[in-house]
Amino acid sequence: MKAVLFYGPQDIRYENTMIKPLSKGEILVKIGAALTCGTDVKTFRRGHPVLIKNIPSGFGHEFAGTVEKVGEGVTNVKVGDRVVCANSAPCGECFYCKRGEYNLCENLDLLNGAYAEYIVVPERIVKKNTIILPDSLPFHKAAFAEPLANVVHGVERTDIKPNDTVGIIGIGPIGLMFARLAKLKGARVIAAGRNPIKLKLAEEFSHADEVVDLKKYPNPEKIFKDFTEEGKGLDVAVECVGLPEMWERVFSCVRPGGTVHFFGGCKSGSTVTFDTTRMHYGDIKLMSVFHHTPKYFRQALDYIASGEVEVEKLITAELPLEKVEWAMEQHIAGNAIKFLIRP
Ligand SMILES: [Zn+2]
Ligand SMILES: [Zn+2]
Repeated sequence: MKAVLFYGPQDIRYENTMIKPLSKGEILVKIGAALTCGTDVKTFRRGHPVLIKNIPSGFGHEFAGTVEKVGEGVTNVKVGDRVVCANSAPCGECFYCKRGEYNLCENLDLLNGAYAEYIVVPERIVKKNTIILPDSLPFHKAAFAEPLANVVHGVERTDIKPNDTVGIIGIGPIGLMFARLAKLKGARVIAAGRNPIKLKLAEEFSHADEVVDLKKYPNPEKIFKDFTEEGKGLDVAVECVGLPEMWERVFSCVRPGGTVHFFGGCKSGSTVTFDTTRMHYGDIKLMSVFHHTPKYFRQALDYIASGEVEVEKLITAELPLEKVEWAMEQHIAGNAIKFLIRP
């Protein structure tokens, strides 16, 4: 088959490769649609210590497609089924799984290889995180279930009440989806960013109440406060950039009693400084949420199928497999939200 393989930072190659024979419990999926993702862009730029273990490696992790073959013992899907698969599934047996904290599973092997004609899906993902699609749901929408599952998890774990003012800094696909789901929770949403393509989508996709261009208003603390009752500050502030200096700034946008959600992961080893007086005497809650669980993966697909989250608006363009490298460069240049890759 044709596939895009990862050989190292800045080195991905479109080539012919063998399809691995199926082991017990595995399935072979013919990719109908794959999506580019910020994580892939990071991996392309500097490699990934957790995601990529052996080189050359499969690349890409958001996909939907048709079951082409099933391994011995597979009972929940059959050849011809249209499916979406998550990029991981919890083991169910480790310390965290036993406590129901499935996103922290110690054996969360992440699947790569969506930029290809076919992908072999491991047994655990087949059993726990493969969903058969309704006929009416196209692959390019279903493939959003994985990235959206992270955001559903993030939003569900945040205390967002109707009429709360939620401010979001950083409006890449994750920030835009966070803004959309916060709107669906009944919040008043202010989305802030710099990129004109993303600012437009904050209106058209997220339906944010206020959209702030940080190039024109470089002081988010002031702008957010101006938009809140009595200038007190946000009820919930969400960082979706992943920069330590932004984590610190977002902390000063929240009102006493509010919540700060650090949703953008920073480079490993990053540290931040907060005013402990403001945090303690201001009763401010700080939180982070990582990854997703099977429950949120299903919930994400429901949001897509119902049309409440119009994920297709996030697709910048459709590209063939051989253009994945070009797609990565477009992401780095800030010209794209997500590309739909069709083998
Ligand atoms: Zn992703
Ligand atoms: Zn586990």
